[in-house]
Amino acid sequence: MHSTRLIEQIQGSLKEVVKYADELRDLDQALGDGDLGITITLGAGAVIDALGELPEGATPSEIARTCAKAFANANPSTMAALVAGGLLAGSKVWKDVEDVDIAAAARFVRAAGDNIAQRGKTQLGDKTIVDAIMPAADALDIGQDATSGLDAAIAAAEKAVVDTRSLRSRRGRAAWLQERSIGLQDPGATAMWRFLEAWRKASVPAHS
Ligand SMILES: [Mg+2]
Repeated sequence: MHSTRLIEQIQGSLKEVVKYADELRDLDQALGDGDLGITITLGAGAVIDALGELPEGATPSEIARTCAKAFANANPSTMAALVAGGLLAGSKVWKDVEDVDIAAAARFVRAAGDNIAQRGKTQLGDKTIVDAIMPAADALDIGQDATSGLDAAIAAAEKAVVDTRSLRSRRGRAAWLQERSIGLQDPGATAMWRFLEAWRKASVPAHS
């Protein structure tokens, strides 16, 4: 996927992902402060606009950096800062990438997940977005092509989201709930899963 298509794909995905804003708000209301819906909505709008202003010939790395800046500046939330840091880390592994294929996508997602885990002092199983990001990166890596890789990543993220329900939240405001967090689905992991689904919905014509 070259730059022009990449920009369209990101913009299309973000227009889809905001349709999940109410679901994310509700999950975050039960486990956090309820700002995740607005974080996603404002962030998506800011990224769509910023990408629309990029000069022609922007590289995938520059595109990812633009997404990071716009997403961070749209919101003061911790989640926005962590996601933006993840996108910046991803932009670095794309330094020499011109055509984003499934392997490049896997490297990006893994770098983003590693960065979020490090900055958020979070491990797999802490019931955060990282729980969905890392299995998605692994699934992308073993995908034969973009379509099968994305399908596998969505399935892996969905499984991770379902698995968060039985876990106790160990990071952020959700951790204050202690054992009362058990049984509730993690909003951050859900956001990652929904983003991957949105990416598939915006992928034409592979999934038409
Ligand atoms: Mg929140």
